[in-house]
Amino acid sequence: MIDMHIHAVNPQLPGVKSFPTFLDGSPGSVAEILRAQMQESGTAAVLGMGHLNGTADDPLGVASTLAIAQRLPNLYAIGVADPTRVDTEHLQRVESQLRSGSVVALKGYLGYLYHGPDSPGYVPYLELAAKYDIPFIFHTGDNWSTVAKVKFAHPLLIDEVAVEHRQVKFVMAHFGNPWTTDAAEVMYKNENVWADLSGILVGDATYFARMTTTGSVQRTVERVRQAIEYTECFDRFLYATDWPLVSMTTYRDFVRQLFDEEHHQSVFQDNAKSLFKRCRIPADRTPP
Ligand SMILES: [Zn+2]
Repeated sequence: MIDMHIHAVNPQLPGVKSFPTFLDGSPGSVAEILRAQMQESGTAAVLGMGHLNGTADDPLGVASTLAIAQRLPNLYAIGVADPTRVDTEHLQRVESQLRSGSVVALKGYLGYLYHGPDSPGYVPYLELAAKYDIPFIFHTGDNWSTVAKVKFAHPLLIDEVAVEHRQVKFVMAHFGNPWTTDAAEVMYKNENVWADLSGILVGDATYFARMTTTGSVQRTVERVRQAIEYTECFDRFLYATDWPLVSMTTYRDFVRQLFDEEHHQSVFQDNAKSLFKRCRIPADRTPP
């Protein structure tokens, strides 16, 4: 089982509601907490988002994630593409970080930054994603920040870049939730668009238990399942949690309900394995 969207470090997004403080601990302590969650949930590999405002030596904000990965080899780093930093020197540093092979994908934080996916600031990063054959992930849907502007994060905007950059493989994080119908159409129409299923519900196990009692979880499952079925693209959905905003085990059980069992192998493992070629992901762990 591969969880392709977690946060092993604070992403440092403007105005974002607080992440658990244990992420600010030493790489060793974060690695131990993460390892325990992975073991409990049966997760073989995780892909962790970097942070904004990386230093000159770390232009994609992945050094702290890679420090944890030294202690937890099945953690892979995703670099943050900052559309406000497009000077030649920065882009050369980005390219050398990509060339090193330490970054398995790039991510753009739509809405948190006031740039849509079609912003000229993303173009050089999309070209690098194509050149190094790594996926480009865009945050889509609700923003977890009071100062974000959610219009920039609408999943329908991904259609524009999917058409203009056919050689890039895009991932819509959070399946555009709550605009899952719009995200579904973008996937159905564009074969270079994937979706991750992280963060559709966010909260601890107590929250999930309460929402299960009220029927809210089941209604969310039905709503998202309708959008998933519309796409007819079961080979382009990716299991993901958004840990530590949810418990891995609780969220695994939620995502299981979004698909018939015949699709679990693809969604929980095989689709990520074929998309993230740079990950040396351990094989043949049985999906849940
Ligand atoms: Zn996230």
